[in-house]
Amino acid sequence: MKQFIRKDLQGITPYSSARDEFKGEAGIWLDANENASVTAWNRYPDPLQGKLKQTISELKNIPVENLFLGNGSDEVLDLLLRLTCTPFQDTIAFFDPSYGMYDVLARINGLSTKRIPLNERFEVDWSQLSEAIAGTRALIICNPNNPTGNLFSQEAICAVLRTYQGVVIVDEAYIDFSEQSSMSKLVNEFPNLVVVQTLSKAYGMAGLRVGMAIANIEWIAALNSIKPPYNLSSLVQETAVNLIQSTDWKAVITDIITERNRLFEALSQQKGVVEVFPSETNFILFRVEDATRLYRSLADAGVVVRNRSSQYNCNNTLRVTIGSEAENTLFLTLIKQFYND
Ligand code: PMP
Repeated sequence: MKQFIRKDLQGITPYSSARDEFKGEAGIWLDANENASVTAWNRYPDPLQGKLKQTISELKNIPVENLFLGNGSDEVLDLLLRLTCTPFQDTIAFFDPSYGMYDVLARINGLSTKRIPLNERFEVDWSQLSEAIAGTRALIICNPNNPTGNLFSQEAICAVLRTYQGVVIVDEAYIDFSEQSSMSKLVNEFPNLVVVQTLSKAYGMAGLRVGMAIANIEWIAALNSIKPPYNLSSLVQETAVNLIQSTDWKAVITDIITERNRLFEALSQQKGVVEVFPSETNFILFRVEDATRLYRSLADAGVVVRNRSSQYNCNNTLRVTIGSEAENTLFLTLIKQFYND
């Protein structure tokens, strides 16, 4: 597994925080230069987020030792690239269109990019992939994909994992809305697999910023060795634990999927809508005759969607997030009005 870590970071001595060096109950904490009084948040948070990891472990049925937490999955992805790729030397690969941050993360880490074009149905040509990614250091697969909403075959990804010399980062931000199970159960089978998930989508905590890597214990140790010591605040850790425990998440997700199916059906029958792409996520990409005009009209009525028309193979497409039942109904009504339907 060591081969996947950037050479100059192999065996790095991690920063040892005050809270790493003493565990247990103490009456008086004079070790971290905090302010002993004044606020309820005067103490540094648990650097390894023990309670939150335990709670996520129970929620997702993933062993605690296979979990790494970041300030959103954007931080996790950033740390993964920093850990594995050498600036101004390495290249990362990802599909096109996909999540726009992959390109930004490559740039801020000094990495070149290799875009793998998806076809008009947003599928990959797996037979050409190994040649296309040869020599790259990491491949990021967003599964299901943003902004297209479709799933890629796990079998095909496993075939890549068997032959590819780099690390495969499977970004499962939307996996909870999908029929396919997570690839996290395979992390002990493939040393070059890291799965990334988030509490921002299905678990309604985008504002808290909690993302995770799921990987074998060596990956978790390596990520811990380079992370900022206190990357998740105490307030976030406590709030996330309480929300996870106090909510029926299966019901929440089922409701979103029901609404997604309703929106899919309605859009499919809507005059003016050229094409609706099947979705395994909490959004739908659809094609219209003039995306920019419809976008403006919705925005003027106070409903903001994402215009994805500038993305590869996404000419005249909008991406709409599944909102509440009332929000979705208003969105559909506005489209009907726009097309005089
Ligand atoms: N991955 C994908 C595919 C996303 O769409 C997003 C957010 N739009 C993220 C990662 C980042 O999520 P967060 O940082 O909120 O966990």
